[in-house]
Amino acid sequence: MQTVSTPRVVIIGGGLAAVYTALKLEPHPVVMISPEPLGSGASSAWAQGGVAAAMDPSDSPEAHARDTMRAGAGSVLQEVAEFVTRAARDHILDLSDLGTGFDRDAEGGFIQSQEAAHSVARVVRVKGDQAGAEIMRALIAELRRRASVQVIEGALAVGLESDGAKVSGVYLAPTDAPGTEPVLLRGAAHVLATGGSAGLYARTTNPARIRGQGIGMAARAGARIADAEFIQFHPTAIDVGEDPMPLATEALRGEGAVLINRHGERFMQSIHPDAELAPRDVVARAVYLETKAGNRPALDTRAAIGVAIRSQFPAVTEACLRNGVDPVTQPIPVAAAAHYHMGGVATDLNGRSSLTGLWACGEAASTGLHGANRLASNGLLEALVFARACARDIAGTLTVADAPEVRLGLPSGGTEPDPQAVAELRQVMTDGVGVVRDADGLRRALGRIAVLESLHGQSHLFRNMTATATLIAAAALMRTESRGAHYRSDCPVTAEGPGRRSDLTLDEAVALRSKIFKETAKCIMPLSPT
Ligand SMILES: Cc1cc2nc3c(=O)[nH]c(=O)nc-3n(C[C@H](O)[C@H](O)[C@H](O)COP(=O)(O)OP(=O)(O)OC[C@H]3O[C@@H](n4cnc5c(N)ncnc54)[C@H](O)[C@@H]3O)c2cc1C
Repeated sequence: MQTVSTPRVVIIGGGLAAVYTALKLEPHPVVMISPEPLGSGASSAWAQGGVAAAMDPSDSPEAHARDTMRAGAGSVLQEVAEFVTRAARDHILDLSDLGTGFDRDAEGGFIQSQEAAHSVARVVRVKGDQAGAEIMRALIAELRRRASVQVIEGALAVGLESDGAKVSGVYLAPTDAPGTEPVLLRGAAHVLATGGSAGLYARTTNPARIRGQGIGMAARAGARIADAEFIQFHPTAIDVGEDPMPLATEALRGEGAVLINRHGERFMQSIHPDAELAPRDVVARAVYLETKAGNRPALDTRAAIGVAIRSQFPAVTEACLRNGVDPVTQPIPVAAAAHYHMGGVATDLNGRSSLTGLWACGEAASTGLHGANRLASNGLLEALVFARACARDIAGTLTVADAPEVRLGLPSGGTEPDPQAVAELRQVMTDGVGVVRDADGLRRALGRIAVLESLHGQSHLFRNMTATATLIAAAALMRTESRGAHYRSDCPVTAEGPGRRSDLTLDEAVALRSKIFKETAKCIMPLSPT
């Protein structure tokens, strides 16, 4: 195998967490590995709502931390919530200095949107629903000007070199031929910023690249994984048959849009006092149950927003129009879809994982900020805060060295994981590990993941996916209560006392899976999607 060593810091990913880490590491030389051109294939560029930050004098980081903890249903680490919310203002001002054109009022103040479970309007935004695209545009333009940053596009990580305690390198393959013999790249430090796992579900809002790859490879290298069972489902994914499903941002409900069923009746008012702005898990379950009952839930923006949706929410309008829905005159069909992974590689306040030499930030990490339910628009914020934390921590361990550019002779001619197997895995997750879970469904899902892995596990990319899927399903089975986004119909009550965070290794999750697989091998369901 070809091995390349470099004094550069290796950053795996091309979304907000990766780009901001690279910027904050300057002048330390870095090499970024991005499967697509920087920013594309990343959830970051798709973010619509914006970034949560207490920018108004009437608001405070303490109030933001309190809302974060309340939304997280007892599993948020207070120290982390305070660390992140205190830093928020500084990061918004930094993004602004780096060229992000946030929406401002006539006096130059930030215009802030109201989103669910925030006690005040606290989300800074760009042209209504363009926050992610605009932040990424500004940061990538800045990054391209930095001589310390080398970007390798068209390559992806398929695994980590590890002795179980320390990560010393990353195995890379060409994006279009991930099944070839990989090249091993050993850097001065390794930062995993590969995003979340929601694309492991058949019904998802995430780009196709975001399928738990990073979490899976870290787990396979021996890293501890926290809160794996906590997947957030978004209640208003636009249900028009696209994969991934386009998003109708929560800010629409902040502007007064309502959820109705096929009879034109609002259904959230009888479920929660905050109706459409109830916590995201509550609204997602309600929408899911309406869908299951055949009531075709829809988001009605007509009275509250009307024709202004075209200028205020151009991404939503475009997604509707290309599917024959005019949101000015028609309700938008919606369904619940996997949206955000609160769990991930367990990290501390410096972004360090349990493996020496491996840092993680952004959605790939689980810092303890989100608990069982992420407060809306805290995802981009967490990526910013922990990207900088990783950069500062790594910089403290290195001296600036002269670093020639990395040259990889990536081979060609490999194969993608079997698309049918990937589709089956995603269907298993939606059917068995979805919005409403129970022990039988979770056990069946674990059995089917084991079968798929045994049939298709020769692909490292597929194995990374089954590793993450196994961790999510095993942690969900082990949590015999309902908490935040994790809802068990067979254990609907939330356990008393502070919420315990889950903490698993892949070995532990696989041991549980093997036990179940042996018990149920004879009655495993056929592998075609149900
Ligand atoms: C539709 C949508 C709307 C959202 N709206 C908001 C919002 O308004 N506010 C908010 O706070 N959050 C929002 N989120 C969540 C937020 O966008 C993400 O949590 C955040 O962008 C994660 O940033 P990241 O850098 O960790 O990951 P990403 O931006 O997803 O980037 C991950 C990167 O890793 C790369 N990658 C993946 N696998 C590999 C591999 N094997 N090797 C190398 N690279 C790899 C990908 O190509 C990508 O470049 C939204 C998410 C979605 C999907």
